[in-house]
Amino acid sequence: MSDFLDTEEQDDNNDFDVIIVGSGLTGLTTAYFLLKKEIGLNVLILEATENIGGKIFLTEESKCFYAHPCQINIVELLDELNIVSISKRKSSSKERIYLTKSGPYRKLSSYISAQIYNFLTSIQNISLDFQLNMHSEEDANFLSNMSLDQLSSNFVTWGTARSICQSLLLTSCGISNLKKVSTLWYLFLLNGAGGFFQRLKITLGDEKRFFIKNGMAELVKILSSTIKKKQGVINCLEPVSNIQFSDTRAYVTTNNKLYKCEYVVVAVPPPESVEITVQPSLSPILSKVQTLFENGKNLFFTATFRQEFRNANYNCPMNIITTPDCDSSLKFLYDSTHSSNKSQLVLAGFLNESNFQTRKKFNFFTTLNQCFRGDSKKNCIIYKERKFNFSNNNQESICVSGCPMSFFIPCDFKHYFNPLSLTNGRIFYAASEYAKNWPGTADGAIEAGKITSLAILWRIRPQSLSKSDLSFFSIRPKKFRQMTIRFSLIYYLCLATNICIFWSFIKKAY
Ligand SMILES: Cc1cc2nc3c(=O)[nH]c(=O)nc-3n(C[C@H](O)[C@H](O)[C@H](O)COP(=O)(O)OP(=O)(O)OC[C@H]3O[C@@H](n4cnc5c(N)ncnc54)[C@H](O)[C@@H]3O)c2cc1C
Repeated sequence: MSDFLDTEEQDDNNDFDVIIVGSGLTGLTTAYFLLKKEIGLNVLILEATENIGGKIFLTEESKCFYAHPCQINIVELLDELNIVSISKRKSSSKERIYLTKSGPYRKLSSYISAQIYNFLTSIQNISLDFQLNMHSEEDANFLSNMSLDQLSSNFVTWGTARSICQSLLLTSCGISNLKKVSTLWYLFLLNGAGGFFQRLKITLGDEKRFFIKNGMAELVKILSSTIKKKQGVINCLEPVSNIQFSDTRAYVTTNNKLYKCEYVVVAVPPPESVEITVQPSLSPILSKVQTLFENGKNLFFTATFRQEFRNANYNCPMNIITTPDCDSSLKFLYDSTHSSNKSQLVLAGFLNESNFQTRKKFNFFTTLNQCFRGDSKKNCIIYKERKFNFSNNNQESICVSGCPMSFFIPCDFKHYFNPLSLTNGRIFYAASEYAKNWPGTADGAIEAGKITSLAILWRIRPQSLSKSDLSFFSIRPKKFRQMTIRFSLIYYLCLATNICIFWSFIKKAY
């Protein structure tokens, strides 16, 4: 380590104010918000692969990535960068199909619906509980060690209702294996999204969902060109393997270079960020927390159909949600046709992990035929599964699944904390997964990037921060605020009533 720390005379070209590891949306927005201040900061982004954009580098497929007006970070950024958004195709019916092991359900019987409703409203109420952070340690420990699978098995007794509840849980968080997902983490995720129903509404295709005209990759393209225009540097094919820091500088090692800087941002999602070694070593809690995240395992697909498929066979929108007990490769399907696309129908969604095995490869079309009563394979013009590889610092090939995010596994409550609000010496950890409001989404990545850039500016140029920058730190989801206001109204109403009763009591007594 001392080798690096003694080489202060290193080439000045390799000296930066801030180095960002990873050119995903989190890394790019961190750089963008730093450079936007135009205060002469030198910013370098180091990317392991040959592509900028991380999970959203393919234009065609990212045309199916969507956002929602309630996701304020992405809405504001698109506005700021003049990026055109387009709405989803308007549709008359609101069809949703649950594919269970006994076939597709279009309408659920009232007793199944009642059980589902009961369970989901309980989840909704707990997730919106504004005192979530203040639960007793005993409650928190119980929830953190319980998996979502245990939660649904314990509280929903009727088999079909339980399968449907489980499929709705996994659809809302995007994770296939509910045995591995911690209930406490899930409640935090929902709390940031304004509750269970709001998160689900957006996942299942609320009418207000919108797309970006040339795909989410357009946002990546404009961000990277703005960064370069503002003298930021982006170096691809430079996987970072090691970061060392002293009291005055940080040293970043890639496969062929050594850079130095004042602050480093590791904009790499957990658990991949664990691959980067840090010296002096990370605080135990920070290194532990990253190992408690696991990558989701499922595959993203897009399928383009001829228009006739829609007209002849089924009325859209056609969300299909399969239950965990159903032997299908399809997990979740949604209509991602843009309002401007008149001639084609575009479906997108996720396939189960089992689809990695070729045996189940074409089950997708069988499932579609079962639900829509038509020859879907014949009508499909383009079918694509998303899977890509990149090399890490050991030059081994890593397969990044099509899952939007990694997730927190059930574990001891003492490991629950957010790395976004902490620094380790000169290192910041940022990723979409750590966002408070919409973790695991593009909006979450922008929030993580914005918070990190403000935290760095606070340290190196506090005078550049505006009043609105400072208030950003205390941002709260809308629903959260409504709950507090509603609570305060009830509280003050009760207080006023008590005072009146007490007053009349005193008057009577004297
Ligand atoms: C299939 C799919 C569909 C999605 N759909 C939507 C959607 O519809 N709406 C939505 O809002 N969100 C969606 N998301 C989620 C959204 O794309 C992500 O939340 C967001 O892009 C995450 O950005 P990130 O920067 O945090 O991580 P990433 O995009 O993973 O970026 C991390 C970057 O770090 C690089 N890296 C890793 N290790 C190193 C290293 N050692 N050195 C240097 N670089 C390194 C990686 O190569 C990568 O470029 C989807 C994601 C997927 C995969």
